[in-house]
Amino acid sequence: SMVVRSGAGVPIATAAALPILTKLQNDCATPLPVLRHVADAMATDMRAGLAVDGGSDLKMILSYVDSLPTGNERGLFYALDLGGTNFRVLRTQLGGKDDRVIATECDQVSIPQDLMFGTSEELFDFIASALAKFAQKEGGKFVLPDGRSRETGFTFSFPVKQTSIDSGILIKWTKGFAVSGTPGKDVVACLNEAMKRQGLDMRVSALVNDTVATLAGARYWDNDVMVAVILGTGTNACYVESVDAIPKLNGQKTTSGRTIVNTEWGAFSNGLPLTEFDREMDAESINPGEQLFEKTISGMYLGEIVRRILVRMAESGSLFGKHVPERLRTPFTLGTPNISSMQQDTSEDLEAMVVEVCDTIAKRGGRLAGAGIVGILQKMEEDSKGIVFRKRTVVAMDGGLYEHHPQYRRYLKDAVTELLGPELSNNVVIEHSKDGSGIGAALLAATNSIYEH
Ligand code: BGC
Ligand code: MG
Repeated sequence: SMVVRSGAGVPIATAAALPILTKLQNDCATPLPVLRHVADAMATDMRAGLAVDGGSDLKMILSYVDSLPTGNERGLFYALDLGGTNFRVLRTQLGGKDDRVIATECDQVSIPQDLMFGTSEELFDFIASALAKFAQKEGGKFVLPDGRSRETGFTFSFPVKQTSIDSGILIKWTKGFAVSGTPGKDVVACLNEAMKRQGLDMRVSALVNDTVATLAGARYWDNDVMVAVILGTGTNACYVESVDAIPKLNGQKTTSGRTIVNTEWGAFSNGLPLTEFDREMDAESINPGEQLFEKTISGMYLGEIVRRILVRMAESGSLFGKHVPERLRTPFTLGTPNISSMQQDTSEDLEAMVVEVCDTIAKRGGRLAGAGIVGILQKMEEDSKGIVFRKRTVVAMDGGLYEHHPQYRRYLKDAVTELLGPELSNNVVIEHSKDGSGIGAALLAATNSIYEH
């Protein structure tokens, strides 16, 4: 993060960088009409994706989660979470309505970089072995009734074409993963084979996206949760939809009349205010042309966009004196935590110019994310004729970007209020559901358990 600080006495942020900044701010501007366009386009794309598979940038994936946790869930359940930077395992002992969560334990390991570019077997062996180690340490308050197999929820945070609640085919990797051999395969089968190799006997009873797990986890405590959004390494949203509003279900019903839809909104692309820096980053990414909304608003990319702008400013000779610092030349060296702390840094030695750049990119991201949320609410409202805005509706948020970046959060909420107006936005509660996805996946494992509970 030190790369952006110049040595004492070096002339900084001279006039030459100003036009670059001004152009950037223009290109990134998100006045109300732009936000409104994004919200409307999000709603339109959602409908197109619900009509027919492949009908839109938004896949609108059917999650097969038709009933949400009630609080009556009981027993020992596991969850594993493969998403972005970390791999997490968790076990929880659920005690039903009165006792709720009796105990939880979890473990986290960071995913070695080389596994993100390795083979499917290597990645799943790593997961299964971490899970096996964790399962061995079970004891204390955690009890598995005799004769039962352990069951787990599997949170797999990539676009998956679900084929049932406990199976689904990886469509493509996102977030910098490029593991060979997995796309087109059932990821539960991949995990089962790896668990077998590890000698681990555990049944995957629910395969879920992290947004879906977050929604389930938040809903366990609050019945008004209707939408869940992840803003972390990547981004996505899911929501509770009525089956009647899903033409591609061809009249299939669920007992609840509802189901959770995973929008995969990271692939949204309509009307985004993009800059030459975004286009260059996209062109050089491992998935060019894909996940454009994600590349504009999520944690993996914000720092990289800023870095590219700073390089341009440095090359114009207006930052850091004559030379461009070597670290600044290296892709993905500037993380979102750097952006966040630079924005909060008010010390004199930090160039106003750098702060402005960070702020411009965070502001665009936060406001567009807010517009996306309004798009979802708008779509739900139009179909339900009033149940969304006339009562309390909770949007459960999680992810490192949302959690650790207060300015981003502020921009997001401001955009929601601007779009909805003070009255309607009063009923929309945007709430952090910290690590709800771990418990959520375990709860969905319980809901879909083969045993009675
Ligand atoms: C994936 C989604 C996931 C999101 C947040 C995106 O890259 O496509 O499935 O929910 O990241 O983790
Ligand atoms: Mg995650």
